[in-house]
Amino acid sequence: MFSYWEQQSFSHYDHIVVGAGIVGLCVAIGLRERYPQASVLILERGLLPTGASTRNAGFACMGSATELLDDLQHASEPEVVGLFAARKKGLERLRKMLGDNKIGYQENGGYELISKQETAALDKLDYLNGLLKPITGKDAFKPASERLSEFGFAGAYSKALIENTCEGELNSGMMMRALLDMAAQCGVEVKTGASVLDFEEEEKQVIVRVKDPFRTDVWPLSCSTISICTNAFTKSLLPDVDVTPGRGQVLVTQPIPGLKFKGIYHFDKGYYYFREIDGRVLFGGGRNLDFETENTTDFSLNSLIQSDLEQKLSDIILPGMHFQVAQRWAGIMAFGVNKYPIVKSFSTRVYGAFRMGGMGVALGSETAAQLVAQHEAI
Ligand SMILES: Cc1cc2nc3c(=O)[nH]c(=O)nc-3n(C[C@H](O)[C@H](O)[C@H](O)COP(=O)(O)OP(=O)(O)OC[C@H]3O[C@@H](n4cnc5c(N)ncnc54)[C@H](O)[C@@H]3O)c2cc1C
Repeated sequence: MFSYWEQQSFSHYDHIVVGAGIVGLCVAIGLRERYPQASVLILERGLLPTGASTRNAGFACMGSATELLDDLQHASEPEVVGLFAARKKGLERLRKMLGDNKIGYQENGGYELISKQETAALDKLDYLNGLLKPITGKDAFKPASERLSEFGFAGAYSKALIENTCEGELNSGMMMRALLDMAAQCGVEVKTGASVLDFEEEEKQVIVRVKDPFRTDVWPLSCSTISICTNAFTKSLLPDVDVTPGRGQVLVTQPIPGLKFKGIYHFDKGYYYFREIDGRVLFGGGRNLDFETENTTDFSLNSLIQSDLEQKLSDIILPGMHFQVAQRWAGIMAFGVNKYPIVKSFSTRVYGAFRMGGMGVALGSETAAQLVAQHEAI
């Protein structure tokens, strides 16, 4: 049961965005910029955004060489180049919008460790560089094997190193805080602990039913448009979309005295990734070890994958060095038949941008901008 005042002042918004990850926040900010007089509300089920945006590794990734070569087996050259371009544009947009200081953006180098089985990729760097040159204006990939011993990686796994000249790194916590601050500054209302149960499109409005953790009754809000930005969790609101959740697991070590590298690194076609952060190593991946179990929206840890991460940290990344794991966590990514995000107007009132393919840090703001551009004035 609602009070007269609640009904009058808190139940209708021009635009409701579901999900306060990178995409939802950027959509809400973009809607306020496009329609300065409109009321915009974000509904987020967690006290904090609880999906991938606060739980990732903070790589502003464009795709490693072996990953792009693998993509080219399943998609056309224009498709692969188009996705690379969207990631690059998204990163530029994010940096311009928030400022490098506020997101801890740095360019300490991006590299891929190449195993013995993958050395053929070295012969294809010229081809990849040629494909990407119209976007990058420079060689995206360079052989950098001479740095392997400087960084201290185990020679038994790493036969070569490829530098990616377009990638950077950021601090995901700072980025999300900066986005939330910007949303508040530009007048976006954010309600956390507000889980959207379902919505119904009517002729002149959309009714959005929200679970309030304190009240027993469901809260029906109304809006002119709804934008679903719930990534891996989208099927609960749009059951027919092609979205499969994929859990990502990460660990971070205690600070390691004498750590020999900075920057961001991938190996095994991007299935593993690590970086230096505050003198520690953040290391994640291994979903490919147990795909079936990892197709889940459950945030718990998989001991098989966590043990594998520790083993690889010891064998490949920090051979002969002592380390202690400080923290472990999981987040949920979204995948589908291809790597393209879904950016769609389902009607003039219902919109969605989701399925970031596990690489939404750079891509997220561009995807959001595309969705805002699709909104029709109503
Ligand atoms: C471990 C890990 C490491 C990663 N590393 C990187 C990386 O280094 N670089 C990179 O580019 N990408 C990385 N990613 C992927 C990247 O984090 C995501 O692609 C990106 O954050 C997706 O943003 P999003 O806004 O679409 O989704 P999310 O951040 O998942 O946001 C969706 C939001 O919707 C909310 N929500 C869901 N359902 C409802 C509902 N019914 N009602 C209300 N709210 C709801 C959720 O709580 C969540 O906050 C990683 C992901 C993980 C898990």
